Amino acid sequence: MPTIKIHSIEPLNHNVRRFKTGKPEGYAFTPGQATHVSIDKDGLRDEDRPFTFTSLPDAGHLEFTIKIYPSHEGVTDQLDELKTGDRLIIEEAWGAIQFKGKGTFIAGGAGMTPMLAILRDQSQKQTDAVEQVIFSNKTKKDLFLEEELRVISNDNLLLTFTQENVDGAEHGRIDEDFLRKHVKNMDQFFYVCGPPKMVESVEKLLKQLGAEAGKIVTEGS
Ligand SMILES: Cc1cc2nc3c(=O)[nH]c(=O)nc-3n(C[C@H](O)[C@H](O)[C@H](O)COP(=O)(O)OP(=O)(O)OC[C@H]3O[C@@H](n4cnc5c(N)ncnc54)[C@H](O)[C@@H]3O)c2cc1C
Repeated sequence: MPTIKIHSIEPLNHNVRRFKTGKPEGYAFTPGQATHVSIDKDGLRDEDRPFTFTSLPDAGHLEFTIKIYPSHEGVTDQLDELKTGDRLIIEEAWGAIQFKGKGTFIAGGAGMTPMLAILRDQSQKQTDAVEQVIFSNKTKKDLFLEEELRVISNDNLLLTFTQENVDGAEHGRIDEDFLRKHVKNMDQFFYVCGPPKMVESVEKLLKQLGAEAGKIVTEGS
């Protein structure tokens, strides 16, 4: 398995970090794909978790955008202890979320990461493939990369916060009323990623509202 050196670690908010690393020669992936990552230290090499590449395939480095969960005592709290120069172990790229056509991107929390890669790719290619980006977080402090998301969504970013009232954003979960209000065209692709319960419920609602099952792209599809 290739090991990669951490070049930088940057906070994007109180618990989301951007890790930039080296890239193995010839390493290939498509935007939206993930790989298993573990920490190259004694006692940690066998503990891997999937993380999504948020860099683009043609970049000379790799990037991961990772939400740290100190209370899990899992891998992310260990990742938060790492420093520039430490090494990670990665495997082959895999994953189901990939760009299939023009549509709306719906993400909850760290579920934004596959979207981020796809949106950056579409923005770099200057396509008009992004109808709208809907990003749900608990509170304003959980939001990350707002400015960039405004740009790569072609200024079609809709924020919602489930536990806080924020000016200019919706307040509440993505339920049927929310989708009826904000999604007018059901004949488009829908990309959905976030906590499993959110994905399940949004997928079901989209189908009820007339979206084609084959046009809803989730990790499980
Ligand atoms: C395809 C794919 C791509 C992914 N990409 C990304 C990405 O790019 N960025 C990102 O941030 N994440 C991503 N994830 C999620 C990531 O893989 C981890 O699951 C997540 O970061 C949690 O890992 P962890 O090791 O910190 O904790 P976990 O493995 O979730 O938990 C470790 C332990 O903590 C305890 N625990 C679990 N949940 C809770 C809870 N709610 N409260 C208290 N204790 C709990 C349990 O005892 C558990 O065994 C992705 C997941 C998938 C499937």
